[in-house]
This record gives sequence, C-alpha cells and structure tokens, in this order.
Amino acid sequence: MSKNKNTYLAKQIVAWYQINGRKDLPWRKNISVYKVWISEIMLQQTQVATVIPYFKRFIKEYPSLRSLIKASEDDILALWSGLGFYRRAKNIFLAKEKIKQDFKGRFPKNFDDILSLPGIGQSTAGAISSIALNNPHPILDANVKRVLKRFYGKDFNEKELWDLSKMATPQKNVFEYTQGIMDIGAIICTSKKKDCDLCPLKSNCSSKNIPLAKKIAYKKINPTHHLTYKLLIYKKKYLLFKKTDKTFWDGLWVPAEGQVKNYIKNIKTQHSTKVTHKLSHLNLKINIDIIHVNKLESIRTNSEHKWVAFNEIEKVAIPAPIKKVINNEQNYSV
Ligand code: SF4
Repeated sequence: MSKNKNTYLAKQIVAWYQINGRKDLPWRKNISVYKVWISEIMLQQTQVATVIPYFKRFIKEYPSLRSLIKASEDDILALWSGLGFYRRAKNIFLAKEKIKQDFKGRFPKNFDDILSLPGIGQSTAGAISSIALNNPHPILDANVKRVLKRFYGKDFNEKELWDLSKMATPQKNVFEYTQGIMDIGAIICTSKKKDCDLCPLKSNCSSKNIPLAKKIAYKKINPTHHLTYKLLIYKKKYLLFKKTDKTFWDGLWVPAEGQVKNYIKNIKTQHSTKVTHKLSHLNLKINIDIIHVNKLESIRTNSEHKWVAFNEIEKVAIPAPIKKVINNEQNYSV
C-alpha cells in the first residue's frame, strides 16, 4: 500500500474527528482508562444506542476502578441485566480480580499486560491503549475492517487487515484517529449504506460512489428452546435460583424449574404467562406459572437460591424476559 495513501487516511480522519467526531458519547467525556475499558467491553457485541443507558448506570454505581474492586460477580451481572452476552460481565469481574492481584489495583498501562486481562483481545487492547493512553496501537473491529477494505478497494484477509491497520495508525493524534475511524465506520461508511459525499476519505477512496453489492439476506433460523418456570411469591418476595447451566444465562437468577415440586402445599393463587425471547443462537419460549403462596416450606435442593423483595429486584441479575414478567406482576399486585 502506498505510504501516501496511509498518510492521507490518517490525516483526513484526524481532521474530521476534531470537528465531527461523536464527542458527546458518555465514555468520551472525562476520559479515563477505566471508562474506556468498560465502554469497549459493552460495545463488543452491542450497538452504541443500546449501550449508553447501561454504561451510565454502571458508571453511576461504580464511578472508578477503585469502587469496582469490591464488586461481586453478582453485582456486575445485575448491572448487565438486559444487555445480553453475559460472558462480558463475567470477564469484567475476572479482569478486575486480576488487576487487584497482579497490578496492585491499578489498570495496567503496558499493552501486553492489558491484553492479558480476561475479555480483552488484540483490538480492544488497541482501542484502550490508543484512546485512553495515547499509545499508537492498531484496532480492527468490524467498522474499521469495512472502511479499510473499501478505502483500499480490496477484500483483504484478516492478517492483511491487521498489517494495514498497523500501517495506517499514526504515531501522533492516535486518540482522534482511532475514534474517528470507528465513527466513520459506524455512521458514514456502514454495512448498509455509504455516504461518500460526507466522507473525509472521498478524494482518495478506491470505492467512492461504487454502489454496494446487493446481498441476499438469508434468514437465520435458530432452534427453539422451551423453558418452564414456577415463580413463587410470598409476602412481596420472589423465590429465585442461580442458574448454573452454561448454555445461556449462566450465573443469572431465574424462577424455579423442578426444585419446588414438594414445596407448594399452600397455593393462594396461581396463573400462567408465556413469553418469547430471542438470543443470538436460540429462540426461547418460556412458560411461567406465577404462584402466590401463603406459607413457607423448606426447599429440598442444592441449588443456590434466595427470596428477593419487590424493591430489590433491580439489584439482582435477572434475564430481561423474566424481569419483564416480574415487573408486570409487581404492577398487577400493587
Ligand atoms: S468514500 Fe465512500 S466508500 Fe470510501 S470510505 Fe468513504 S463512505 Fe466508504
């Protein structure tokens, strides 16, 4: 690739970011390595608009790495509740444990140390280093890949893209460059449209104004998984069990599956509700029997469980569709 083209790319992106970049995103205000880390993990599989309220809530609860150090995995999962891909929340817990043990509670600055933290791959480490520490390291998320391929006009393989990203990343103004190329891929040169007239790269782009090839959209058909729960309610408290099945929602709190068969002797009222929910790889059909009881019985199970009060629900990691049912029930019971 010509050096001139690389220099042009970086120069144009930096200048564009300084004027047009999305500087109002919450993780781009009062920037810290901690905030960049949390935002980059949240953004790994989720759109910016969805992440914003979750990021704000997380930072309100844990404004600094110091405050996060004391959090349990349950605390972090509770704040993640509804954002999905819960492995990311577990990795934040594991990473802060490693930071506590190996880096004296301080976020590491060395690239390889950052890369050693759970949940942080080459591109996320590059983003944290470039944005928060101003150290020039390449990134390669889906947006950056697309801009590079179109700008250079070739369908590069993964290794070629990393080499290209490395060559294109400037030594100076890496903060602006990294965020700028992410923004251009997210809002100007997207997978569905290209606004070449608004693009700072248009004068030297190999794909300028070339129409996007029409893709045949194959509908992904996920298998359906049926779930049946019994939501026990006693004196404005819900009985919830910690899920340990690794398939999905591992570590989250859900109503009883089979654990309360011998328990229900004192049913006051009972009704059922059905909900559907889509995961990335599964469609869930969930049937929930909502059972109000008027007496407590012992629960014969080794599963971790607890009674959660109505007003404590927000502090517990509960999957979005279950939380919706609980909130509805709560409104109905008031
Ligand atoms: S000029 Fe068009 S194709 Fe090239 S990077 Fe910009 S938006 Fe994408």
